[in-house]
Amino acid sequence: MRVGFHNGVVILPDRVLEDGVVVCEGARVVSVGARPRRLYSVDEWVDARGGYISPGFVDIHVHGGDGADFMDGTPEAVIRANRCHLRHGTTTIFPTTTTGSPAQVRAMLKACTAVKKQDLAENGARIGGVHFYGPYFAPDKTGCHSLAGCRAPARGEYLKHFATGIIRIATCAAELPGAEAFYREARRRRCLVTCGHSNASWDEMDRAFRAGMRHVDHFWCAMSSVSSLRTRFGTPMRAGMEQFVLANEAMSTEVIADGCHLAPDLLEFARKLIGPARLCLVTDANRAVDQPPGRYRFGPATDGSWFESDGEVGWMPGRSSLASSVRCLDFMVRHMKEATGASLPEVVRMASLTPAERAGVAKQVGSLEVGKRADVLLLNRRLQVRAVFLGGKRQG
Ligand SMILES: [Zn+2]
Ligand SMILES: [Zn+2]
Repeated sequence: MRVGFHNGVVILPDRVLEDGVVVCEGARVVSVGARPRRLYSVDEWVDARGGYISPGFVDIHVHGGDGADFMDGTPEAVIRANRCHLRHGTTTIFPTTTTGSPAQVRAMLKACTAVKKQDLAENGARIGGVHFYGPYFAPDKTGCHSLAGCRAPARGEYLKHFATGIIRIATCAAELPGAEAFYREARRRRCLVTCGHSNASWDEMDRAFRAGMRHVDHFWCAMSSVSSLRTRFGTPMRAGMEQFVLANEAMSTEVIADGCHLAPDLLEFARKLIGPARLCLVTDANRAVDQPPGRYRFGPATDGSWFESDGEVGWMPGRSSLASSVRCLDFMVRHMKEATGASLPEVVRMASLTPAERAGVAKQVGSLEVGKRADVLLLNRRLQVRAVFLGGKRQG
């Protein structure tokens, strides 16, 4: 069965094809071009109605949605969140842990493994792997995660987690004792190795880099700065994570482009200085996505820390600081396009190919290219998701 998408602008990583055609056979893309429609042999045409034909989005940092947090640790919760993100255009997802006990992390890994094994389109966005994120955070940069759950990496613990084989992205604060051994183990397992919730200095980042660290979580959020390092070390003032990423071409990072975490000037700065090949859009979304404003738990339903959603973003109690986002990648793509000078291919690349490359799944997903999975979105001219195709099959 060959399905062709036509009457739309095809978004490629480096350009658009006006009035382009994408043809899928089974679950794969078999042709991308802009020849007249009659030259393609196709069983069924899908009309993009003058909108965009886009690759499905890839989210490498996401905690939940539609009432569920991945740390709830059940297949039902995983499916609920994955369905929510699929409706908003995310076709490949990396469920992300928070701080929690080893048993809670194990339950989350087990639930994600079970759902990934089923490999059913009705389970929502396909799991590319797990982002093992909490609990190895610096105590002075916990953000909205519970401090009680934070700890230094314990080899006995993380070896068991890695042995599940589902972890593809691994985070640890670079200054924690044992961080380098953790990074080396994660690199050995071909994970994207990342430093987050950290107050690391340039020297600590440099050591981490040599151990395999190549990415920094949510740029400007819960990370070191010249002023936070001054608090830690006094004078002379010194460089930290920000300078290390900007100065090092091999490093990538990500932004939460929900319009609440970072002002347009910082988004534009990141786009210009880091660029679409090294900058990912992530949601860092919590369970309050597509839910009414109110109080929710971040992390496990039983004992995660409380936050408040106002419908636009999550807040720590008392609204002293932000507590992750309540938006999906479709929103981030629209906002990034509106708030910065990025072209449409650049914005979509940051939400698809770049995260896919960094997470090591770009051979299968991340762009509309021959041989890759037919994860296709139809967007209208305002970049709202009109239809989602997972492996060539229409969802919803
Ligand atoms: Zn975080
Ligand atoms: Zn997060």
